[in-house]
This record gives sequence, C-alpha cells and structure tokens, in this order.
Amino acid sequence: MHAVRAYVGLGANLGDARATLTAAVHALAALPGARLAGVSRLYVTTPVEIADQPDFHNAVVALDVPAGPSGPEATGPLALLLALKSIERAFGRQDRFRYGPRELDLDLLLFGEEQVVVERPEGGRSLDPAKAARLLEVPHPEARHRLFVLVPLSDLAPDLVPPGWTESVARARDRQKSIEGASAVRAIAHWDATLGSWVKPGSA
Ligand code: ADP
Ligand code: MG
Repeated sequence: MHAVRAYVGLGANLGDARATLTAAVHALAALPGARLAGVSRLYVTTPVEIADQPDFHNAVVALDVPAGPSGPEATGPLALLLALKSIERAFGRQDRFRYGPRELDLDLLLFGEEQVVVERPEGGRSLDPAKAARLLEVPHPEARHRLFVLVPLSDLAPDLVPPGWTESVARARDRQKSIEGASAVRAIAHWDATLGSWVKPGSA
C-alpha cells in the first residue's frame, strides 16, 4: 500500500513539556507502518484564547503513513487520529477544557492531499460545547490561523499549498505573524536525528 505524508502538530504546557514532546516524536515514529520524515524546530509559544496558563512548547512532525483504503470512511486519516488520541492518553492527558492546559496535544494537521470531514457519532458528542463538533476534520480547520502551527510547519514544508487553502504555508505564516507578532512563537532548539532529540542552536 502506498504511503501518504501526514503532518502532526504537537503541543504541551504541563509537566516537562520538552521531554514529553521528545517522547511523543518517538511514539509517532513507532506507529505501525509509519516512517519519520521530518521534525521541526522546537518552539516556546504564548498561549492563545486562554492567557492565564503556562507557555506552550510546540512542534510539527512529518510522518509517512499507510494511505489506507480510500472511500467515504477515510480509513487512513481516521486510523491515524485514533492512534494520536491513544498516544495522548498514554502521556497522561486528562480531559479538561478546550484551549486549556494539557500534558500533550496531538493534532492531525494534514493527510496528504485529502480533505476529510467525519462527523461525531450521535451520543459521542462532548459535553463541552466549545469542543470541536467534528470527530475529524482535515486539513485541521484552525491550522491556517495559528502561528504556533504555521511556524513549525513552515520549517518542513514552506511551499506546500494544503488542500482547500489558497496560499502556501510560508505566506500564511507571514500573514499571521503580522497579526500575532514575531515574538509569539520562539525557536529554542532544532531536531538532531542522530541523537533523536532537540538540541540548542549552535551545539552540534
Ligand atoms: P484542541 O482543538 O484544543 O486541540 P482537543 O485536542 O481536545 O482540542 O480536540 C478536540 C476534538 O477535536 C478531538 O476530540 C477530535 O475528535 C477533534 N478533531 C477534529 N479534527 C481534528 C484533527 N484534525 N486533529 C485532531 N483532533 C481533531
Ligand atoms: Mg487536539
């Protein structure tokens, strides 16, 4: 079965966020059939929506995953979403409110060229009305408005125009930067593939 390039957004702001994100990269790379295709720099970012919480650490990972059978069930992206949710739980993610503090957040930003919407089954609706009504939407609907996604994503794929977008990742990043300000998202380290961890800029 052929592979699809997926992009996963990682975020954390409770506990040792850097260690959590490092371990999450390894967990993603270890998913069945998956191959790690790239890891962005590591960023410290000012929280959006709810200001009164610790700064976040954010990054984006490129992952080549099996496409899965095509069709309305969108097996490939849904299977990946469920895998992301189980990694979140394994890292101790507690159910809290949207935009609030979290041990680990994994968002499926892009799944190749696919545009997918999977509605939440009746009865499976979250009690929190602010939570996404959809079980899965790809591309992630908020990715294009979030500097903490656009900056790390543009480390990996600046010229990519995701399905449904009218501009490249780099252009969306620059537009959003003029709104949020360049200091909202600060690079603190780059990924060293040999070490399998982020290292400070300048250290080899
Ligand atoms: P946040 O939007 O702050 O990341 P959550 O991580 O709690 O909030 O996600 C809320 C819900 O969003 C999840 O239960 C999931 O079913 C749904 N969802 C819809 N599309 C996506 C996507 N592309 N990636 C991750 N979750 C998604
Ligand atoms: Mg999420």
